[in-house]
Amino acid sequence: MSKSPAQDTSNATPKLRRAAAGSSAAGAASLVKAVPKVGFVSLGCPKALVDSERIITKLRSEGYDIAPNYDGADVVVVNTCGFLDSAKQESLDAIGEAMAQNGRVIVTGCFGVEEGRIRDAHPGVLAVTGPHQYEQVVEAVHDAAPPLHDPFVDLVPPEGVHLTPRHYAYLKISEGCNNRCTFCIIPALRGDLASRPANHVMHEAERLVKAGVKELLVISQDTSAYGLDIKYAESPWKGAPLKAKFLDLSRALGDLGAWVRMHYVYPYPHVDDVIPLMADGKILPYLDIPFQHASPSVLKAMRRPASQEKTAERIRRWRDVCPDLAIRSTFIVGFPGETDADFEQLLGWLKDAKINRAGCFKYEAVAGAVANDLAGAVPEEVKEERWHRFMETQKEVSADLLGAKVSRVIDVLIDEVDDDGAVGRSKWDAPEIDGSVFLNGDVSVKQGDIVQAKVTDADDYDLWAERL
Ligand code: SF4
Repeated sequence: MSKSPAQDTSNATPKLRRAAAGSSAAGAASLVKAVPKVGFVSLGCPKALVDSERIITKLRSEGYDIAPNYDGADVVVVNTCGFLDSAKQESLDAIGEAMAQNGRVIVTGCFGVEEGRIRDAHPGVLAVTGPHQYEQVVEAVHDAAPPLHDPFVDLVPPEGVHLTPRHYAYLKISEGCNNRCTFCIIPALRGDLASRPANHVMHEAERLVKAGVKELLVISQDTSAYGLDIKYAESPWKGAPLKAKFLDLSRALGDLGAWVRMHYVYPYPHVDDVIPLMADGKILPYLDIPFQHASPSVLKAMRRPASQEKTAERIRRWRDVCPDLAIRSTFIVGFPGETDADFEQLLGWLKDAKINRAGCFKYEAVAGAVANDLAGAVPEEVKEERWHRFMETQKEVSADLLGAKVSRVIDVLIDEVDDDGAVGRSKWDAPEIDGSVFLNGDVSVKQGDIVQAKVTDADDYDLWAERL
């Protein structure tokens, strides 16, 4: 856990490199595989229901579909109740039904503490876990029906199997996508944008916060388009109508008192309206915007949404309103037709826009994608060289921005604590994909605490700090 910037930077750099390396051939192949489906039977009290929703949220964020019936499920999770003997019998019956109808069953929940009794009755169950063992349940699902890991499908990185602890959770606000980027087949796999009603999202978010979640990570394929498909429909929330709109939802989520982090935002003009909420501390000063490129001709060939926006200028204006704003992004190098000049433009833009965090993928053809038919394939060695130059440039930008944080007092959300100290994240760092804040030698904090600390050091990707 403990780490010094001078001794070892291995924990920081690979995070970005692993993300960058995600566009491997395996990634392309996974897109044509069927999405794994999980059936879910949830018994018991509202607490058990929250547990079920947390498990489902995690699985959905990893790309799993939820099967509406036993037939279509690759595996069935039965969340049991063990409060009364009658509830235990109901749980055993539900497991029996799932075994008979599907045969691949994972048992969790309160009755899971009586594993012997469950296995005596149903020896074929795949795994048995107890209440609140979200991580173990998700691991059992991974074993039974491995997730598809592809950077263009999953909204979490392949390292997502490093399971979400209880202090943060992904909150999916919509499915599908109305865009038609030429390298992507998600709309073909998942259909057009289908937004959840705003009050459904809020109920889930509130339950998560009540269950101890300190950070909500808002995800979708196109977060800033939220509600477009349902004409920004209003739904009742806390006695007033709430619009299914990016700004309105951001404001309502900000009222819950947890950190709210926005992923997969496109720079549509209305995103400007959300920046003041960040400046006011209502939501985190963080935008994950998958720009993918900066050259107009490449963006046009990619058919990227909002590609006509002058993004470096927009980011400057956002930072005038919210100087602490961190931008995280992903990019593709070696897209068909990308010239040396296009690539140089990308590097220049990266420095100009001061992108805090970035992953980079070398373009690979995805079966079924329109981009496969584009002329001007870039040779592999050119892609490789561009990828290295991109990462080197980004490292310098990141190091500069982090160096400027030294001596500042910041909030740190603690992710892990061991004998050597604690490691957490600042408001500028999403879990798994961004950097860390190391509190070396500090063992008196616990996971999920938000503490104030003074930044003492920085390297290319991480910060070191001491608690006040
Ligand atoms: S915005 Fe583009 S890349 Fe993202 S899911 Fe939609 S079509 Fe795919």
